[in-house]
Amino acid sequence: MPIDTDLAWAAQLLREGELVAIPTETVYGLAANAFDAEAVLKVFEAKQRPAFDPLIVHVHSAVQAAAVAALEQAAPELRTQAEALMDRFWPGPLTLVLPKTPRIPDLVTSGLDTVAVRMPDHPVTLALLHMLPFPLAAPSANPFGYVSPTTAQHVADQLGGKVPYILDGGPCTVGVESTIIGWEATVEQWVLYRHGGLPLEEVEAVIGGVGRASKRVLPASPGMLDSHYAPLRPLLIGSVPVLAGELAGKRFGVISFRNRHVAHRCEVLSPGGDLAEAARNLFAAMRRLDQGAVDVILAEHFPEEGLGRAINDRLMRAAAKRG
Ligand code: AMP
Ligand code: MG
Repeated sequence: MPIDTDLAWAAQLLREGELVAIPTETVYGLAANAFDAEAVLKVFEAKQRPAFDPLIVHVHSAVQAAAVAALEQAAPELRTQAEALMDRFWPGPLTLVLPKTPRIPDLVTSGLDTVAVRMPDHPVTLALLHMLPFPLAAPSANPFGYVSPTTAQHVADQLGGKVPYILDGGPCTVGVESTIIGWEATVEQWVLYRHGGLPLEEVEAVIGGVGRASKRVLPASPGMLDSHYAPLRPLLIGSVPVLAGELAGKRFGVISFRNRHVAHRCEVLSPGGDLAEAARNLFAAMRRLDQGAVDVILAEHFPEEGLGRAINDRLMRAAAKRG
């Protein structure tokens, strides 16, 4: 299995236009040279990702972000706010959607004139980025639509045969994908494309209220797809005792926040009631239940605040698979 910690080898593969799975604080990414359309095409093929789903470009600094996002051409207010966000939250789980530079191939952005960019907070991947003369386009390293990987082994389990090398940086410390906001030129406002690892409250403390992207305003933001991040087993959300009562005879697994429930298998994400810990454990728990001998997965609603919003968002999209 090609899982190891050899940075020089990973850098060489990327320079040759190959794919490498990389650790980040959110989830593992499947990376390619963001300036090389041929390399990026391999990402779409390995993931079986539809070409309408744009990738996030990973950079090692705000300076490198300027090669990706054309901030100098942006309205002064947008530029000031984007720089304030980078300054405050990078490296970290905040992705900014900004006007793109011509260096970024259309394939990366699915033909949009905006690009998603972020600086990951992981020492291994930051060191790798510093070794390379280009940024890395990287979506989550999982087959399209399935639960995202939070360990190197998760990547190997699903994409092992399709990725030449998996750079192991240990388990992800945040555990859910980045929060994505973007400047929506038509409404001249920042809008939210996806709840994620940085609580929206923290973003709003810096730039004020963030609007909600409607599917009409946004032609192509598959992070907004109803069904995504989904296990293979059906998943139902609500009161666990009530749902369990309706499932006579079925074997069910449970995803709960703090309390243990009577079930074939119960995954308690944070006995101490810490939403960040719960987010970190969410995807691994979903995978374990998906692989275990259960017919259905039941999940509680999490508190709709901080990282609880990202957790509820992922659970709802996992549940939408059934429809
Ligand atoms: P992933 O890296 O797998 O979490 O997916 C990246 C997500 O970023 C996509 O599914 C989109 O929802 C979002 N995204 C990337 N680029 C853009 C863009 N230019 N405009 C809006 N959303 C974007
Ligand atoms: Mg993904």
